Amino acid sequence: MHAEVLLRPGMDMMVDPRVDFYNYANGTWMKTAVIPSDKPAWGSFVELGDTNWQKIKGILEETSTLKSPTPGSIEQKVGDFYASAMDTAQIEKQGIKPLDSYFQQINAIASRTDLVNEIVSLQKCHMDPLFDGSVAVDEKDSDHMAFYLSQGGLGLPSREYYFSDLFVKVRQAYQEHIKAMFILLGDSPDIASRNAQTVFEIETELAKDSRKMVDLRDAIKNYNPMNLDIMMKLAPNFLWKEYFDSIGLGSDPHGVVGQPEFFTAVDHLLQERSLDDWKSYLRWNLINNTAKYLGSAFEDEHFHFYLTVLNGTKQKEPRWQRVARQTDSSLGEALGQLYVSKYFPPEVKKRASEMISSILEVFHGRLEHVEWMTPETRQKALQKFVALRVKVGYPDKWIDYSKLQIDRDSYVTNVLRAHAFEFHRQMDKLNKPVDKTEWHMTPSTVNAYNNPTGNEVVFPAGILQPPFFDPSADDAVNYGGIGAVIAHEITHGYDDQGRKYDAKGNLKEWWTLKDAAQFKERSQKLVAQFSNYEALPDLKVNGELCLGEDIADLGGVSIAYEALHHIKGRENEPSLIEDLTRDQRFFLAWAKIWRSKYREEYLKNMITVNVHAPGQFRAIGAPSNLSEFFTAFGIKPGDPMWFPVESRAKIW
Ligand SMILES: [Zn+2]
Repeated sequence: MHAEVLLRPGMDMMVDPRVDFYNYANGTWMKTAVIPSDKPAWGSFVELGDTNWQKIKGILEETSTLKSPTPGSIEQKVGDFYASAMDTAQIEKQGIKPLDSYFQQINAIASRTDLVNEIVSLQKCHMDPLFDGSVAVDEKDSDHMAFYLSQGGLGLPSREYYFSDLFVKVRQAYQEHIKAMFILLGDSPDIASRNAQTVFEIETELAKDSRKMVDLRDAIKNYNPMNLDIMMKLAPNFLWKEYFDSIGLGSDPHGVVGQPEFFTAVDHLLQERSLDDWKSYLRWNLINNTAKYLGSAFEDEHFHFYLTVLNGTKQKEPRWQRVARQTDSSLGEALGQLYVSKYFPPEVKKRASEMISSILEVFHGRLEHVEWMTPETRQKALQKFVALRVKVGYPDKWIDYSKLQIDRDSYVTNVLRAHAFEFHRQMDKLNKPVDKTEWHMTPSTVNAYNNPTGNEVVFPAGILQPPFFDPSADDAVNYGGIGAVIAHEITHGYDDQGRKYDAKGNLKEWWTLKDAAQFKERSQKLVAQFSNYEALPDLKVNGELCLGEDIADLGGVSIAYEALHHIKGRENEPSLIEDLTRDQRFFLAWAKIWRSKYREEYLKNMITVNVHAPGQFRAIGAPSNLSEFFTAFGIKPGDPMWFPVESRAKIW
């Protein structure tokens, strides 16, 4: 039996799908849905996210009120973490006292060596003063881990925020915000003002030599082997030997630098700025990264800038929800174990795995038959496909949290301990073989990912729920929802960047020049298509920035559509549900998962830094390249929704 998932209620039957498909599919929802005051945006993803947080809330309340949990157990840690964060009386009383030793260390900086040690000490707590130093799989040697040095050190979301006309007001508000934070730390208004100016000047200098979002997507250009000599040449004034010693890499760090020119800029800044300036900059980094875990004065000021000014959110989410997000971020696989045992039945994993297999089969066929590929590249593409690893629900092996101490004494201390634990866990991997069982999203996450260096796709339990996946719903709705999401993630392995990684996950040129040129020509059509979508008056989507996602959506919808038509043994199913054909329901389900409303500030942020186009364009973007879509709704040349055949992209 197949239950009906209703599509009609959100649709607007007064709108003609040939004129405006998005509003035909979502018009009633668009007219009636209101962005909650504590959200920057609203739509299927956020809505499911909220329902999911309610489930997590239950787990957190239960574990934090257990009579006597076993000390050291995940229940004790999750419960105490939550309790420490909900104890606002204790948090107010403590003020910034739990951070005293960190501030003292910054104030005591008396030399370049002290400065470097302090940068390391903050990096070990998950902050990125000046630049980011972190461990990840070596992109050109995927059996080993590497240490990456990357651009960083900014308090605004990206380089663009420091220079674009779009953000003049944001920059003013940001400087006021930094000043307000220094005042909260006890500086007089004059000194706070001067310190804020110093911080903003340093960040603007760093931003000047930071790469644009579009340039950060280029996997090859952002991979530059690094050792001590190279770093000394790039930035001779930075004490690299001391840095690598202090962070635990010793004198011979084999690693990768993402943006070499950025480190030269860091070097110039180090020469130009006094130690006192750097102390202000580090104090700002420390408070900016911890304000969320302190009393209301700090938290409110942080919220006002980062959520209201930057994203337009009017009100904070309830405290339990903010804390739930942090628990997921700090203790994700501990919380995840409790989450899946309660909310992820084995049948869901089985049904999802079957669906994934059916989609993989279609994708395999595409790689075998796609007409533009040469036999040479095709053979390697097929090898890569056969080696693809699929992970569903939750990891087979959980992170061992036994070395992480969590108690009820201080929320901010718990968060910093969890950051330090994670940093050490990452550093520990450097001399070990890559652990291929590892996950990079927590089980409760409402999302999925493709990890190019692991040649794997991963679907957490959190996304395997309605409206994306409903084991009792009809196939068209499931294939238009989670089916397209699954195919989207698989396609990422063959998008404009993903295609550069081989079967083993190594970044390598394995395409012939002819194939690469064909691919580029085809994908340029998507760049043109999406660059034409206007998100706000005079603000168009950046088709270059979201190209990888648009390729994945196109493959996703097209492959899920074909997979839907390959399901055997469903001949007796009704062809019409809610008076809609199977194909109509498929495309409507896709449009439904992307229905979205955004606050203006959030939309500007999204267009600038997010590799995903706004939902209203994703709802129609991929379908507009498929003739089946036009047929399903009777869209003909001359109709406003018509997209000329010669403009359509066909890649996979
Ligand atoms: Zn994606």
